[in-house]
Amino acid sequence: MTPERYQRIRDMLAKRQTDLTVCLENVHKPHNVSAVVRTCDAIGIHKVHAVWENQYRVRSGTAMGSQQWVNVDTHENVTDAIGALKAQNMQVLVTHLSDKAVDFRDIDYTKPTAILFGQEKYGVTDEAIAMCDQDIVIPMVGMVQSLNVSVAAALVLYEAQRQRQIAGMYDVQHLSEEECQRMLFEGGYP
Ligand code: SAM
Repeated sequence: MTPERYQRIRDMLAKRQTDLTVCLENVHKPHNVSAVVRTCDAIGIHKVHAVWENQYRVRSGTAMGSQQWVNVDTHENVTDAIGALKAQNMQVLVTHLSDKAVDFRDIDYTKPTAILFGQEKYGVTDEAIAMCDQDIVIPMVGMVQSLNVSVAAALVLYEAQRQRQIAGMYDVQHLSEEECQRMLFEGGYP
C-alpha cells in the first residue's frame, strides 16, 4: 500500500460515526441497497443494518467500491434488528408518514441514532413502526407521495452529517484503534 493510500484510509476511518446507522427493512433492489451503502460511506457510517428475507446483494457498479468500507449487518427479522439497535442505546427513527411524524430536520442527530427505511413498494412494516421511537417524514408537496428510498436516505443522512459536523463530531475518532488496524490490515470488508 502506498503511503498516500494508507493516509487516505486512516483519514476516512478517523471520521467514521459508530453511533449513527441506518436499517433497511427488506429494501430488495440491489441498486437501491448499493446507493444507500454508497451514501453511508460518503457521510462516514461504519455499519449498516439490514433485514432481508432473501440474500443481500450489493451491485458493485452502483456502490462504486463503498461496500468495501461499510459493514452490513444482516438480521432475520425487524424485531431482532431494532432490538439490537436499542440495546446500543440508539434512538430509532422510522421514515413513515403518519399523524405523529415530525419533519426530519427537527430531529437531533447528534444523539446515537438509527434510521429505518422501508421496502420500495410497501414501506416499513407495522411491526417496525410500533417498535420505533419516532416517525419522521421528508415533506412532500407534489403529486407523488414518496421518494425513492435511496434519495430519502441521502436527504436524512446529510442532515445528520450537517448537524454532526457543526457539533465537531467528525473531529474526534470514534472507531477503536484495534478496529482501524484491522481495517487497514484486511483492506476493508470482503
Ligand atoms: N408506498 C410506500 C409507503 O407507503 O411507505 C412507499 C415506500 S417509499 C418508495 C420507500 C421508502 O423510502 C419508505 O419506506 C421510506 O423509508 C422512504 N421514503 C420515501 N419517501 C419518504 C418521505 N417523504 N419521507 C420519509 N421517508 C420516505
